[in-house]
Amino acid sequence: MLDVIVVGAGPAGLYAAMLMAREGLDVAVLEEHAAVGAPTHCTGLVAAEVYDLYKVPESIVLHRPSTCTIVSPGGVAGEFRSPGERLAVLDRGALDQALAKSAQQAGASVFTERRVDDLTLGQGHVRALCANGEAVRARALVMAAGVTYRFHHLMESRSPAVLHTAQLEVDARPSETLEVHLGRAVAPEGFAWLVPVRRQGRSRVKAGVLARGDARSYLRAFLDRPTVSPRLREAPGEPIRRLLPVGPARRSYGERMLAVGDAAGLTKPVTGGGIFYALLSAAFAADTLIEALRADDLRAQRLARYEARWGARLMPEIRTGLRFRRLLASLSDRELDRFVAAMASDDVQAVLAETARFNWHRSAIVALLRQPGIKSILLRSLFR
Ligand SMILES: Cc1cc2nc3c(=O)[nH]c(=O)nc-3n(C[C@H](O)[C@H](O)[C@H](O)COP(=O)(O)OP(=O)(O)OC[C@H]3O[C@@H](n4cnc5c(N)ncnc54)[C@H](O)[C@@H]3O)c2cc1C
Repeated sequence: MLDVIVVGAGPAGLYAAMLMAREGLDVAVLEEHAAVGAPTHCTGLVAAEVYDLYKVPESIVLHRPSTCTIVSPGGVAGEFRSPGERLAVLDRGALDQALAKSAQQAGASVFTERRVDDLTLGQGHVRALCANGEAVRARALVMAAGVTYRFHHLMESRSPAVLHTAQLEVDARPSETLEVHLGRAVAPEGFAWLVPVRRQGRSRVKAGVLARGDARSYLRAFLDRPTVSPRLREAPGEPIRRLLPVGPARRSYGERMLAVGDAAGLTKPVTGGGIFYALLSAAFAADTLIEALRADDLRAQRLARYEARWGARLMPEIRTGLRFRRLLASLSDRELDRFVAAMASDDVQAVLAETARFNWHRSAIVALLRQPGIKSILLRSLFR
């Protein structure tokens, strides 16, 4: 019998597998697809802080943006510089492959074409049944299957709040700047983005939409805009569509089981970025399981320590981010125009230069809400 089964070979599952295998645990990762890292749904934008957890190979960096332009529905544009943090757009497929290699070098096994179709808790073990009929047993399990919540009842949990996304990559005119477009007609409750990358010497752009509703249709309409379509150098193909969790699942632990990354609903609520939280939660999960396996105590009561650990670090951020997301989602297009203009003012730029961090939004949000220009726009939406 294995020590740990990890369901899903994304960043969260592979990083947890690597850390546990390094401690001598017998770990197997089961991935449904034929290859790790494909298909790729993600934009891959991270801050250098990710390197504190995992040394990302330089060869997989597709672009290093330093500015972001936010465009309001009425065309007001604010330009924002990264406040001292190095950002990188990673080849997300290659990141997953690098993590898989590191996990294997640490001693974990990574199996592809192993879709887990059924999970059962037995006496002293958990059993995963794969679509190919293979059954695997282990003392514990890490649920790292991304936005898949079909097994969450085993943790007395359920699906978190989700939004829809659609993204594709096409050849495009060269550009340095990230773009974020806001507006109810562009992406209700979310945003559209253009992220320039260079791949094999070609200038390309990742274009996507995060929205409530039909993200694919919003993306088509966005790409057809006269300000966007002339910049594309080929006809856009079919986007990859996926759900994105925007808020934690009700519970991230159960008997012999922990959920990490998107499976626990751990993304930054304002932007939807989740790679850093995926790695961080995987590290907390690995620590908790290593201790629990050594103590041979895998009761839910004991594994609750995992949620206490990630909660202490992430919940203040997530709570503030969720409130801010709700305020932004309730703004009309005219209010969004005023919001972007206020964000671009010298006063607010100075505040952001002091407080904004790519992975930690709370300080910047709190500081923004103290700015009279921003406060008056956002708080008015509370009284509608
Ligand atoms: C359009 C889009 C753009 C994004 N852009 C960014 C970004 O720029 N920066 C950022 O930080 N975050 C971004 N994110 C979020 C980020 O992609 C996720 O937070 C991150 O992938 C979470 O990692 P994970 O390992 O938890 O899940 P995943 O990466 O989803 O990995 C889960 C794995 O489990 C496998 N799996 C699922 N079910 C089963 C099963 N039953 N059996 C076996 N295997 C299974 C899947 O095939 C997959 O390989 C984006 C998300 C979307 C949708």
